[in-house]
Amino acid sequence: MGMTIHAPLSRQAPRIERVETFLVDLPTIRPHKLSVATMEGQTLMVVRLHMSDGMVGVGEGTTIAGLAYGPESPEGMKLTIDAYMAPVLLAADPTRIQATMATIGKVVKGNHFAKSAVETALFDAQGKRSGLPISELLGGRVRDRLPVAWTLASGDTARDIAEAEEMLARRRHRIFKLKIGRNAVRADVAHVAAIKAALGERASVRVDVNMAWSESEAAYGLRALADAGCDLVEQPVASAEALARLTARGVVPVMADEILQGPASAFELARMRAADVFAVKIEQSGGLIAAANVGAIADAAGIELYGGTMLEGAVSTIAAAHLFSAFPRLGFGTELFGPLLITEEILTEPLDYSDFSLEVPRGPGLGITLDEERIARFRRDGARRTLVLAATKAGS
Ligand SMILES: [Mg+2]
Repeated sequence: MGMTIHAPLSRQAPRIERVETFLVDLPTIRPHKLSVATMEGQTLMVVRLHMSDGMVGVGEGTTIAGLAYGPESPEGMKLTIDAYMAPVLLAADPTRIQATMATIGKVVKGNHFAKSAVETALFDAQGKRSGLPISELLGGRVRDRLPVAWTLASGDTARDIAEAEEMLARRRHRIFKLKIGRNAVRADVAHVAAIKAALGERASVRVDVNMAWSESEAAYGLRALADAGCDLVEQPVASAEALARLTARGVVPVMADEILQGPASAFELARMRAADVFAVKIEQSGGLIAAANVGAIADAAGIELYGGTMLEGAVSTIAAAHLFSAFPRLGFGTELFGPLLITEEILTEPLDYSDFSLEVPRGPGLGITLDEERIARFRRDGARRTLVLAATKAGS
């Protein structure tokens, strides 16, 4: 039997013929209160890569409250892709994802969210081309469903308890994350303690302080939260050194989120033992491959993993789900509830959130299909918006 000589990848390689980017403004079910801002809606930056072999890869870039959480905005991502990444993509072999992203990395520093959107689109197309879900391109899933936490962020204790009870009854969530840090520490702790007392052992109650505390506030807060039955404290302070000192106290598991900005920071935080748990986010890491590397560093260091979110819509949420399904260990579950905050369904087939978890789609690529009519309706440059603007102008 003769040896098979494989043709070089590039011989039949497709090309990217068009890079399409647009913004989609979607309403949310309620104001979402964080220590940094209150979100009244969500804007998705969608990128679509149209390829010569007929494949169309889709990716998404989304932020929390515009520029209030981090340095990238949906508008800025669109500009970055249109002006700086598109020329690279139009000349690239899109089947070589790492090589393409490395070339983009030479002309675009930082901009992790925009890179994540583009890399997701490349993976989606590659998966469709090969007939495999993205999870299989990332090493293979070890689970088909992911536990999903829900964030209670109304700011009102009784309303939050009622919301948690409803989620438990519907079997949608049994992990609740409370956004605290806007009020005095004692008031916040009392809020958490009341919710934990009401839910008891039926639910895991955790908090995200979004860096709002000083180290001394956190030293008190961690102890009080542990006494209240809180299972996890996310990013109580901003500095890595302070976080490491708080982690060393061993009062309650501490999680790093905002300061985790990709593999290099993951390595540094692991070296410092700055946290017990890493909140891995594909956008903040710089894409699926970078986030996979963050997960590998945590695993090697004996740090637990949690699948984080930037409150993304369905596209980036499912990209993340594919990666998290392939993590060998996922001790603290995920918070992939972004699509549930949005009132409008943008997929032809809704995601399956049931049995306290999210099902990871099994189809090729992301395994989801955008509802074009819905997208057209909510596009910032779409017909509806143009009509509204025209009417406003006519009336003034
Ligand atoms: Mg967080």
